[in-house]
Amino acid sequence: MAYSLDPDTLRRGIASAAPRGMSTSTRDRARRLMLAWIDTAIAHRVGANDLARALRDGQAARQIAAARRAEIAADPPDAIRNAACAPGCAFCCVLTDEDGGTISTAEAQAVHAALVPMAGQRDGSDWMHRACPALDPETRLCRIYDDRPEICRSYISTDAAACEINAAGGSAPGGGVIGSHVDFLALLAVSRAAMTGLAQVPTFALRDVAAAALNGRDAKEALNAARHPPVMLDRVQSGAERGRTYSSGSSSSGEPTRTQRPPR
Ligand code: SF4
Ligand code: SF4
Repeated sequence: MAYSLDPDTLRRGIASAAPRGMSTSTRDRARRLMLAWIDTAIAHRVGANDLARALRDGQAARQIAAARRAEIAADPPDAIRNAACAPGCAFCCVLTDEDGGTISTAEAQAVHAALVPMAGQRDGSDWMHRACPALDPETRLCRIYDDRPEICRSYISTDAAACEINAAGGSAPGGGVIGSHVDFLALLAVSRAAMTGLAQVPTFALRDVAAAALNGRDAKEALNAARHPPVMLDRVQSGAERGRTYSSGSSSSGEPTRTQRPPR
């Protein structure tokens, strides 16, 4: 689909984007990050339509968040240095929250494409109720590791026992997200606000995309079945802002929230 817009229109949309429920500081940071990304893309001769598609599908948000995550990993706070995370430790892959793991269009497409060749295989919920379908129920390893979404790359904990309690519906401390994930959600919300009237910027439940793929449903059906109501991104984004986050040199003091708690 072609959009009738020019880069300046897109830039103005970003500069004035005001998603519901987002703090001023998070909003201003997301605007700044997205405007810098657009300027870099334009310098690399990316056209207005491709820019708009990158905002719509969440590719821009994903690229910015990945760069931020790499920065934090290069100078990690204590919580990352002391994380208890290890292969086969998968309590964070139990998706108990109402959002089922919030992912963008690009992420949903990647999850579907990676899982659909495994259609008919056993589901992660054979290991534990509400575990991500992409989890191997025997090894407890992610079967789509290279294609796992941003939330799966961001959640960490210093206490695996607390994660087990949370997977069973509790709310034990110890976990949180790398700061890049708060940016990712804010960038999706800013993209949505900037694209109003041009295109929708949907989000999806990771759990439902993965289940549909393993049931052999095609990508269009899977994404339709897994699409969130618009208000879900607002809820998850503001929950993440209030929750515990880890960035280089600092950690916020919030407790991990239910909508923040999904996988790594
Ligand atoms: S977040 Fe918790 S459950 Fe997940 S790998 Fe780390 S310690 Fe294990
Ligand atoms: S996609 Fe994410 S939640 Fe699902 S198994 Fe892989 S790491 Fe866990």
